[in-house]
Amino acid sequence: ATEILNSVHIHRSVHVGDNIENPLVELSHVEKHYGDLHVLKNINLKVGKGQVMVVLGPSGSGKSTMCRTINRLETIDSGVIRIDGEVLPAEGRDLANLRAEVGMVFQQFNLFANKTILQNVTLAPMRVRHMSKRDAEDEAMELLARVGVDSQAQKMPSQLSGGQQQRVAIARALAMHPKVMLFDEPTSALDPEMVNEVLDTMTQLAHEGMTMICVTHEMGFARQVADNIVFMADGKILEAGSPEQFFENPQTDRAKDFLSKIL
Ligand code: ADP
Ligand code: MG
Repeated sequence: ATEILNSVHIHRSVHVGDNIENPLVELSHVEKHYGDLHVLKNINLKVGKGQVMVVLGPSGSGKSTMCRTINRLETIDSGVIRIDGEVLPAEGRDLANLRAEVGMVFQQFNLFANKTILQNVTLAPMRVRHMSKRDAEDEAMELLARVGVDSQAQKMPSQLSGGQQQRVAIARALAMHPKVMLFDEPTSALDPEMVNEVLDTMTQLAHEGMTMICVTHEMGFARQVADNIVFMADGKILEAGSPEQFFENPQTDRAKDFLSKIL
């Protein structure tokens, strides 16, 4: 019987947030290959406004690829991705507009090395949102204050610690007024003593009502901040549930194995 149950788990693909009306992010039957590698297999998920979804799973399971498809850094083979009800187009001006609604923070901070912290934050609002320099700078200073690095505004990225740079990256994403923020292992490249300052900024953002999708191995954050946990392996969503459900009562062998290694 166990064998049958497990094989059911292995072949099923969990639909996440099926009961959510008007989801802010919706992936429906999303498939993606890299050549022969089937990297996303029938991904179905909805994230409601203001919800925080934490995506867990072993390395190579497709977490980053899924994040990258949500703002079309990667194309999909089939399926549909909607942001606030609008289908993400393949290209063109509409894509640029919709992509601006999705803020993304990566493992590597990706700040422009030859620009000041302030310029890093004002660049896109001036170019894409056509804000005046003055308005963009006023807003950038507010955002930098919100993430606690306003005193560093005139410095270059290399003069800041990793934790400070990652908080600037968050401020820079927020400057585009995104409807949803994606975080792909934002603390994995940081020295341990800087992890909490970035997690605290993310927690604050969650409490302010930001809709967030976070790939992270920080289980404390996942337990305390996530509304939903999604567990991926081999390109599939194997489990989804509340943090209590997932951590106390994982259903699949893959999830149990993952948790035994990470906790
Ligand atoms: P995760 O973030 O969960 O570690 P990824 O989404 O980065 O997983 O990768 C999923 C799989 O796709 C891995 O096997 C990885 O090697 C492969 N992959 C990722 N990006 C590319 C790419 N640009 N070209 C080919 N294969 C890729
Ligand atoms: Mg990854």
